[in-house]
Amino acid sequence: MDILLMGPPGAGKGTQGALLAQALGIPKFATGDLLRDAVKRGSPLGLQAKAVMEAGHLVGDEIILGVIREELGKPEAAKGVIYDGVVRTIPQAEGMERILSEKGRRMDAVLFFDVTDQEILSRLDRRREVEQRADDDPAAVTTRLRAYRQQTAPVLAWYEARDRVHTVPAVGSVEEIATRVRDALGK
Ligand code: AMP
Repeated sequence: MDILLMGPPGAGKGTQGALLAQALGIPKFATGDLLRDAVKRGSPLGLQAKAVMEAGHLVGDEIILGVIREELGKPEAAKGVIYDGVVRTIPQAEGMERILSEKGRRMDAVLFFDVTDQEILSRLDRRREVEQRADDDPAAVTTRLRAYRQQTAPVLAWYEARDRVHTVPAVGSVEEIATRVRDALGK
């Protein structure tokens, strides 16, 4: 099963994605984690992505689609993947559909983690203290939320038009939200 997790930064996609991956026995793939690791290692991908990420902008579609294609070529991805924040623009949604269809698959479900902006801002404030991510500073957070509204929110409409979206109210305890996620998927 291929499942896409969507929602603004700080909506809980990472936490819930890890739980869901464990429950379904399939891997979780997050482009954000992969890019952060590339930046840390100073690989060519990391060098390309570093400044864009730190400013809170989106990395180019061609780069992201290359990374997705590589990930989906791995044997462990054969039975499905939980994608965390992986599709953030319409060209990425179209490209992802093409890559999956080459394997006789499609995005089976899109989980939209619904949270208010106010809640997001206070969560990211707390996360900055704990994780010290460069892109959780206030200026980058504003840019990331703008990128989300302008480029990623339309992706939700793209999947809604294809009847794939399940909305999960993403406020409450981790366990409560995990139960909503499993209910939405019928698992
Ligand atoms: P995240 O950890 O998902 O919040 O991602 C951190 C940053 O990585 C984002 O603000 C973007 O700069 C970049 N990024 C991650 N995934 C994507 C994607 N699918 N498309 C474009 N940029 C991405």
